[in-house]
Amino acid sequence: MALPAQASVVIIGGGVAGCSIAYHLTKIGVTDVVLLERRKLTCGTTWHAAGLVGQLRATRNLTELAKYTADLYHSLEAETGQATGFKQNGSISVAQTEARFEELKRGASMGKTFGLEIDVLSAPEIKERWPLLAIDDLVGGIFLRKDGQTNPIDTTQALAKGAKMRGAKILENTTVSRIRIEGGRAVGVETDAGYIAADTVVLCAGMWSHGLAQQCGVAVPLHAAEHFYIVTEPIKGLPGNLPVLRVQDECAYYKEDAGKLLVGCFEPVAKPWGMQGIPQDFSFETLPEDYEHFEPILDAAVKRVPALADAGIQLFFNGPESFTPDDRYYIGETPEVRDLFLATGFNSIGIQSSGGVGKVLAQWIVDRHPPVDLCDVDIRRAMPFQANRRYLRDRTVETLGLLYAMHWPYYQYRTARGARRTPLHDRLIAAGACMGETAGWERPNWFAAPGSSPRYHYSYGRQNWFAACQSECLAVRDAVALFDQCCFAKFLVQGPDACAILNHLSAADVDVAPGRIVYTQWLNERAGIEADLTITRLSESEFMVVTSAICQTRDLAWLRRQIQSRADARCTVTDVTSGIAMLGVMGPRSRELLQRLSGADLSNTAHPFGQSRELEIGYARVRASRITYVGELGWELYLPAEHCLDVYEQLVAAGAEFGLRHAGYHAMGACRVEKGYRHWSHDIADEDTPLESGLGFAVAWDKAGGFLGREALLKQRAGGPLRKRLVQVMLAETSDDAPLLYHEEPIVRDGRIVGSIKSGAWGFRLGRSIGMGYVHAEEGVSPQWLESGRWEIEVACRRWPAHVQLKPWYDPTNQRIKS
Ligand SMILES: Cc1cc2nc3c(=O)[nH]c(=O)nc-3n(C[C@H](O)[C@H](O)[C@H](O)COP(=O)(O)OP(=O)(O)OC[C@H]3O[C@@H](n4cnc5c(N)ncnc54)[C@H](O)[C@@H]3O)c2cc1C
Repeated sequence: MALPAQASVVIIGGGVAGCSIAYHLTKIGVTDVVLLERRKLTCGTTWHAAGLVGQLRATRNLTELAKYTADLYHSLEAETGQATGFKQNGSISVAQTEARFEELKRGASMGKTFGLEIDVLSAPEIKERWPLLAIDDLVGGIFLRKDGQTNPIDTTQALAKGAKMRGAKILENTTVSRIRIEGGRAVGVETDAGYIAADTVVLCAGMWSHGLAQQCGVAVPLHAAEHFYIVTEPIKGLPGNLPVLRVQDECAYYKEDAGKLLVGCFEPVAKPWGMQGIPQDFSFETLPEDYEHFEPILDAAVKRVPALADAGIQLFFNGPESFTPDDRYYIGETPEVRDLFLATGFNSIGIQSSGGVGKVLAQWIVDRHPPVDLCDVDIRRAMPFQANRRYLRDRTVETLGLLYAMHWPYYQYRTARGARRTPLHDRLIAAGACMGETAGWERPNWFAAPGSSPRYHYSYGRQNWFAACQSECLAVRDAVALFDQCCFAKFLVQGPDACAILNHLSAADVDVAPGRIVYTQWLNERAGIEADLTITRLSESEFMVVTSAICQTRDLAWLRRQIQSRADARCTVTDVTSGIAMLGVMGPRSRELLQRLSGADLSNTAHPFGQSRELEIGYARVRASRITYVGELGWELYLPAEHCLDVYEQLVAAGAEFGLRHAGYHAMGACRVEKGYRHWSHDIADEDTPLESGLGFAVAWDKAGGFLGREALLKQRAGGPLRKRLVQVMLAETSDDAPLLYHEEPIVRDGRIVGSIKSGAWGFRLGRSIGMGYVHAEEGVSPQWLESGRWEIEVACRRWPAHVQLKPWYDPTNQRIKS
C-alpha cells in the first residue's frame, strides 16, 4: 500500500498500544487513520509479553481502564473474527508476611469501591484453587475473579483487524525518521517512504519513543530494561483453568500456557538495556539469556511449585520493555508540541492497559481533553530533566522490581537521587533531614532527632518517623517551624495583558491591588480543576504564580497555551523556579521571629492575611507573603536563590528563642489534612469542580469578563443539590489500634460504599486518623444526609466507625490564620 499524502491521524508504532488507538479512533468515527510500523505488527515488545491481564490498579480511573481492557479482549474475537486467546480464569496474589497480607487486603477493599469482584482467601483456600502450590509459609491471599490472560500477538492483530475493518490503513515496513513540527504543532511525519501530513500525530513507538521524541524537543522519560521469564516443558496434570498466580514476596508470577507453566519475574535489581539508544533493526528479537540473574527466582519458584523440579525448561526468555521513572505509563498531548499525542512507557502492563488507553486516548484526541481524570498517567507530570539518559538508566535498575516490591506508604526511591537540590540541601542534612524525592527534587520529609538515623523503617502502621513528625507538627501549631519550599514552581507573568489573561484563566479575581495574594483554581471548559495555585500581583503588569513541584510542567504548559491562543497577546511567562528560593515560616510565633529579623511591623493592620510585601532579612530583600498551607499564622518568603543561605542562617539563629524547628513535608502533609486544605492530583483534579470540592469560596462569580469554565460552573450551581462532594473524615477510634488512612479506602454510609478517601494522615494535634474524600448520593450530598448516616471507613477489609463533615476539623473559622 502506498503512503497516503495526508491523514487525519498518523500513529507511529504497530504494537498493542498503537493498534488499540487505531481501533478506538475508528470506533468513534475517526476513520482517516494511518498506522505506520517500522517492520511488522507486534515486532517490538508486544510479541513476547506474558499476556497477563489484571484489573486492580492504584486509582479508580486506571482500574476502570484495565477493567474495560478485559471486557474488550473478551468480545474482540466475536467482533473481528480473529482469535485472541483470551481466557478469564482469575488471578491469585498470595502473601508470605502479615504486611503483604495487609497490602493485599487494603487492595481488596479499594477494589471493592471500583466494583471489582475480589475474595480474601486463607492458605488452604489458595491451595484449592492452585493445587500445585506449597502453602506452608503463606498467610493468605486475594482472588480477583475476572482477571485473565491473553495472547498478545493475536490480540494485537485483532485490534488491527478491527481498525482496518472500519477504514484505518496499516502500513508495515515503513519507518518514521522524524516528526515534523511547524509553529509549535506536529504537522506530519517523514518516513522512508516519503512524507505524510497529519492533523494529529500519535507516538506509540514503545522503547523507541524516547529517541523519536527527543529529535523534536519533547521529553519522554523512559528506558528499556531486560525482562525475564521461563516456559517449562509440558507438566502432566497441569489444570488448564489455573488462575494466574502472583507471589510478589518472591518477585514471581505464574501462568498456565498450553499445559506448560510460564514463570516470570520482577527482580529487585533490574538490568537496564539500550543505553546507547535502541537499535533500529531490532525486530522479533530476544536478548541473551542470563541464568545467573534468574537463578534466585527459579530457586524460590521450585520450592513454591515443587512440580517445577521435574519439569524441563523449554524456553529461557529475555526481552526488553520500557520503564518510566515512576512506574506509570504516559498518555496525552505533549506539553511541548501541540497535536502530538502519545501512549508509551508501559512498565510491563502494556497488554492489560492498552484496551482502556486506546479508548480514552482516542476520545482525548477527538475532544482535545481527557474524558476522565488521568493525571496519574498524563505525560504532563514528566519533568524535562527526566529525559536525561543516565538518570533513566539509574532509576530503571529499581523501577522494574518495584512492581512486586511492597508498596509501602511514603516509599522513597533508592536510585537516581540528588538530581535537583535546593541551596539548603547540605544544611538540612546536617540538621537531621531525611530526604524524599518529588519531581527530582530532594526535599526534607522529616528530621531525625539527634543521635537517631534519618532512615525509613517502612510499615502500614506508624512508621519510625512518627515521633519526629509529631514534634514538627506541634512546633507548627504552638511555636514556629521552618520549611524549605524551594521546590515549589514559580512563574513570572509579565506584560500589559498579563492581568487580563490571568483573570480569564483564574476562577478568582486576580485584578487586585499590587501586593495582594490570590488563592485560585484554573478551570477547564467543563469547570474541572486544572490547577490549584496562588497568584501574587507584584505590580500593574507583573504577577508571580506559585504552584506545587509536581505541577511545574503541567501548569506552565496550560498558561503558555492560553497566552499562545491569543495571537496578539502582550504577555510573557518565565519559569523562575530555579532562581527564586522559597522558605515557609509557619506558626503562631512566626510574627515575632520575622519582626525581630526585619524590624518591620507585621501586625494584622500593617500586614494582613493575603498580603505580600518586601522585607529586609540579613543582607537580602525578601518578599514575604502572608499565606499558609498548614493552617497557621505564617509567611512564605521568596528571595533570590543566592541569598537563601544567608536568610536561612538568620532564621535559625534568631529562631531558637521562639522555639523554631525544622519541619519536613510529612509534617506539612499532616497539618494540611488537619486543616482540610486540598492537594491537586489527590483531592482535586480536572474532573472535580470547585463546588464539588468545597472551593466555591474562591470563585469570583461576577467578576468583569468572567473566566474559563464559568458557564459550566454556573450550570452546576443552578442544577440542584450536588451529587458528589468532598468531605472531611475522622476515625472514631482513638487508640493506637486506629489504622492509618492513605488513599482510596472505601467510605461507607449505612453499610454501603459511597466514596473513597483521597488524602489521609495522622492528625497530630487532633490525635486521630483523618482524611478527605468524595462521597456520592443520587439525592444530593447535603449536611442532613451527612448527619443522618452511620459512617465507616474500610481498611484492609475491616470497617471502622467514623465521623464526616464538610468543614475542616481544625480551625474551621480560620481564627488562627488571621490571628
Ligand atoms: C517479558 C515481558 C513480559 C510481559 N508481560 C506482560 C504481561 O503479562 N501483561 C502486560 O500487560 N504486559 C506485559 N509486558 C509488557 C508489554 O509487552 C508492553 O507493555 C507492550 O507490549 C508495549 O506495547 P507498545 O505498543 O507500547 O510497544 P511495542 O510493542 O514495542 O510497539 C512499538 C512499535 O513501534 C514500532 N516503531 C518503533 N520505532 C518506529 C519508527 N521510527 N517508525 C515506525 N514504527 C516504529 C516498533 O517496531 C514496535 O512495533 C511484558 C513485557 C515483556 C518484555
